[in-house]
Amino acid sequence: MVRAVVGANWGDEGKGKITDMLGETSDIIVRFQGGSNAGHTIVNDYGKFALHILPSGVFYNHTTSIIGNGVAFSIPALFQEVNEIVKKGVPKPKILVSDRAQIVMPYHILFDQYEEERLGGKSFGSTKSGIAPFYSDKYSKIGFQVSELFDEELLVEKVERVCELKNVILEHLYHKPPIDKIELLDTLHEYGEMVKPYVCDTAAYLQEAIKQGKNILLEGQLGTLKDPDFGIYPMVTSSSTLASYGAIGAGIPPYEIKEIITVVKAYSSAVGAGEFVSEIFGDEADELRKRGGDGGEFGATTGRPRRMGWFDAVASRYGCKMQGATQAVITVLDVLGYLDEIPVCVGYEIDGQVTKDFPTTTKLKKAKPVYKVLPGWKTDIRGIKKYEDLPQNCRAYIEFIEKELEVPVKMVSNGPKRSDIILR
Ligand code: GDP
Repeated sequence: MVRAVVGANWGDEGKGKITDMLGETSDIIVRFQGGSNAGHTIVNDYGKFALHILPSGVFYNHTTSIIGNGVAFSIPALFQEVNEIVKKGVPKPKILVSDRAQIVMPYHILFDQYEEERLGGKSFGSTKSGIAPFYSDKYSKIGFQVSELFDEELLVEKVERVCELKNVILEHLYHKPPIDKIELLDTLHEYGEMVKPYVCDTAAYLQEAIKQGKNILLEGQLGTLKDPDFGIYPMVTSSSTLASYGAIGAGIPPYEIKEIITVVKAYSSAVGAGEFVSEIFGDEADELRKRGGDGGEFGATTGRPRRMGWFDAVASRYGCKMQGATQAVITVLDVLGYLDEIPVCVGYEIDGQVTKDFPTTTKLKKAKPVYKVLPGWKTDIRGIKKYEDLPQNCRAYIEFIEKELEVPVKMVSNGPKRSDIILR
């Protein structure tokens, strides 16, 4: 059976923890989009890890981790991450890399930096890992597929052709040094050597695994609101964050994805620029940021302080709907235990009208939050294992959110550890 773990919000919902947990009952875990630009934080028996490119189910002996064709594949990032986890005592993971995955090139990272510099104050708040230039090149058909690393004639010709184009932009738009073709070719040879033992037709592998009844888990990065089609365009990421893209980014039939486990955060947080209706500021935000996640809400990749806000039912219901959620998981609920009252954004006021539907960015810019205030529970709920043992007001908060989401909430996460989970 194929399951997907995806985010309903702006990312950082705690998908890593849920994937790590569901890894126990999975044979294969697949990254199907994005790259090493966002991070997943995982706390388990081996320690605390920030993964960027490896799937979060990499900690088990029995799982195979796949870098799918849809990923922006940074070859050095993968090997650096494998070395880091092995150093901390995790068994050497079984990894397969799609022969159709495309490679993040050293110049993608440079172009990302140069473009942010050029835009100055109008920048997108990119993590500068080369993701936007990578996907632009993929769709401009000048990207490099992993399989191409093993065709020398093609590689030499393509490096020549692509550098010609890139160097014009480097010289005339960014006023930066050109790409050295010989050096680039050497790097690609090194990449080829590094990745060769892991390369295979992962789509064929996965389709065969489905036939054999294996359990496959698709791990999404970021969330619905960062999707290039359905998110807060243009402040979005460059590949689709939706479960339906899992079929493409892994190479499996769409109807095989049976469970879409959509992770919803008990409050809101976002990194980078973009519309954020229920955002809070000042001391109120600082307090939540300090208490949030596991040791504060700071980006796993960038260390940037995250923007904070109350739970946004409008964005989250839409987030679940666009994912096609079959169930929702509410995470980081324990963090809210200090509040007397908890505001929840239940509507957007746009030009004097209240709506419950998530609009396009142009309208979203004008939206003001309409809040309903729920009572807090004023206790630490970490360590609680049974739903019935949660305080009454805490259950009321969950049930209120569930009603707003219009999706059954089957799991509640009350702490960063794998075992901090309440099943309903
Ligand atoms: P992802 O990108 O969706 O995997 O999310 P991140 O890893 O960026 O952010 C989630 C953060 O919250 C991490 O620091 C997790 O360790 C932490 N976390 C996950 N679930 C919970 C939870 O239920 N309670 C608390 N307090 N922290 C959690």
